[in-house]
Amino acid sequence: MEPTLSSIRGIGPARLKALNEAGIFTVRDLAMFLPREYRDLSRTTPLGALQAGVPTAVRVRVTGEVREQRAKKLLITKVFVTDGSDVVAAVWYNQPWLKNQLVKGRELLLYGKAEWKKGVLHLVSPTIEQNDGLVPVYRAIPGVPAKAMRATVEAALDACDGSWPEDLPESIRRRYDLCERNFALRNAHFPTGQEALAAARKRLAFEELLLYQTALSLFRNTGREGVQFHFEDDALEEFWDRLPFAPTNAQRRVMREVADDLRSRRAMARMVQGDVGSGKTAIAFAAIALAHRCGYQAALMAPTEVLARQHYDGAKEILEPLGCRVGLLTGSLTPKQHRIAHEAIREGAWDAIIGTHALITEGVEYRNLGLVVTDEQHRFGVRQRTQLGEKGDAPNVLVMSATPIPRTLSLILYGDLDISIVDELPPGRKPVATRIVPESKREGLYGFLREEVRKGRQVYVVCPLVEESEAVEALPAEQVYEDLRTIHLPDLRVELVHGRMKPRDKDAVLEKFRAGEADVLVSTTVIEVGVNVPNATIMVIENAERFGLAQLHQLRGRVGRGAHESWCFLMAEPNERLRFLTSTNDGFRVAQKDMELRGPGELFGTRQSGAIAEGIGQMGSDAEMLKQTHDLARELLADPESEDARAVIALAQARFADRLDGIAVN
Ligand code: ADP
Ligand code: MG
Repeated sequence: MEPTLSSIRGIGPARLKALNEAGIFTVRDLAMFLPREYRDLSRTTPLGALQAGVPTAVRVRVTGEVREQRAKKLLITKVFVTDGSDVVAAVWYNQPWLKNQLVKGRELLLYGKAEWKKGVLHLVSPTIEQNDGLVPVYRAIPGVPAKAMRATVEAALDACDGSWPEDLPESIRRRYDLCERNFALRNAHFPTGQEALAAARKRLAFEELLLYQTALSLFRNTGREGVQFHFEDDALEEFWDRLPFAPTNAQRRVMREVADDLRSRRAMARMVQGDVGSGKTAIAFAAIALAHRCGYQAALMAPTEVLARQHYDGAKEILEPLGCRVGLLTGSLTPKQHRIAHEAIREGAWDAIIGTHALITEGVEYRNLGLVVTDEQHRFGVRQRTQLGEKGDAPNVLVMSATPIPRTLSLILYGDLDISIVDELPPGRKPVATRIVPESKREGLYGFLREEVRKGRQVYVVCPLVEESEAVEALPAEQVYEDLRTIHLPDLRVELVHGRMKPRDKDAVLEKFRAGEADVLVSTTVIEVGVNVPNATIMVIENAERFGLAQLHQLRGRVGRGAHESWCFLMAEPNERLRFLTSTNDGFRVAQKDMELRGPGELFGTRQSGAIAEGIGQMGSDAEMLKQTHDLARELLADPESEDARAVIALAQARFADRLDGIAVN
């Protein structure tokens, strides 16, 4: 019997809540929360050979007394360390508890990056490591420090040691050379070596993808009859006439494909793919206008509150003049506003309902939902997409994605969807010049920023999201902000915005930036969507190596929207992956490359959707494995009564139970 999560050593109520919020509810979820990467501590570097910007393990001794210093909200802890060959300084930010560990004479295994600060090489926020060998690094979960996460996973594995049932049929394991489950789980987290790690990853990725493919096939629902719209050919022209701009040819073509679906008896299930800024919103609004014209309600679901509001404002402007009544439903409404919204939706007082997840919560009943649009599809799971579809009587479904996926792959990933591609940007867009900036060129970049600001431009600085205690390779936004404000750009107006701020404070900072009252905006990727400041022409991305190519491409899409030349600076040591980004502005090519380099699993959008276990995306789930599991799922479902098929179907149903509810196997 699997123990409950709260019975695991180290999981109290607070930690339980933090884990739940990250989508971890069972010991199995925790065991399948696989590391994002592994830190190799088996090889250490002499201090004399330290290089700025390269993550390194060093074995050192504390030579001096620890010093603490305060700068505004920042507590700086500093100590000198030596390995006999050289002496360097190590600094940490806002980690007061470290003081007790940094005792003079103590031996430490440190892992982190060195950086030049005022001409002196510093180890910046290195982690203090206990074990050598391969150490797992998990995606940061708010409220669970990296070390605690490691200990918690270890405790969970210990609690179930050797007792996970081997549920994958032996014939399949033998055919694809997959190792046993207990071995796989243990070694995926705490590998005994590279070989064991590779075998473990292969087994877990294969199983996860096989179950996902099987589940997808089970609920694939092609050819289903749906709501059929009746409208004349000039209906679309009328809509285009209302827009403040002329549609591109690509927008026209995609909209005709959508219109044909809407007029057919088969329910539409179409994905519109198009690069950032290709104008997918206008297509969504056109489809909503057609639904309204035919007497049906339409719902548009966005992944964030900011994006939903932005669409709501746009819809009011474009759709309301057509007599289409627009309403907003998000999680942040007051209970009273919720009641009013629910009633307006039920009674049909609203024709177009724009919102977030709140659109698919219980209690929302539509009067006659004929069209469902989900924006930024890659941020939702398949389950959420289909849930909204289930709200009506087989409504037409349109999903929009800025992550272009090669056609062969999308057939496998989204086999239930037809695909349209917006392969043209509106006229007048300027490509964003992209450059890689290694640590040694940092000072030079600041000179350039200063000049651009003097010309009246504005700058975004984006930092990856990390826990403070895990600030190894990545600089937390607060620290970057402090450094910019006090050391690098003290003469400019620098502001900070991050996910833990209250929405009101966040809005205030964004508004300041929008109004041109700040020159530099430091942020975490939390505010990835929703900001549109044409005067901001420079995007600086700290620790660019931490991001996927597709994500970097999305981020740089935030600049290049105005008349001025735009720049994107990737702060990282140059590598092939990042160099590719400097060579093209084509989102399709970027996505293709991302997939070649990182494996297609990344495209599942694992972080947001939870469709596939955490970490599988990075786990050797290459295109070959995707095809193998796809074919095997087909083969099994062709003979669903066979012993192997029954076993795998049962597993897939258990794994994706919430999604397969009520869908018969046939
Ligand atoms: P995305 O495909 O990333 O969702 P949006 O729909 O948000 O792109 O469009 C990006 C910007 O381009 C918006 O400001 C929109 O008004 C503008 N836009 C869209 N289509 C056109 C067009 N055909 N001509 C000019 N501007 C357009
Ligand atoms: Mg969009």
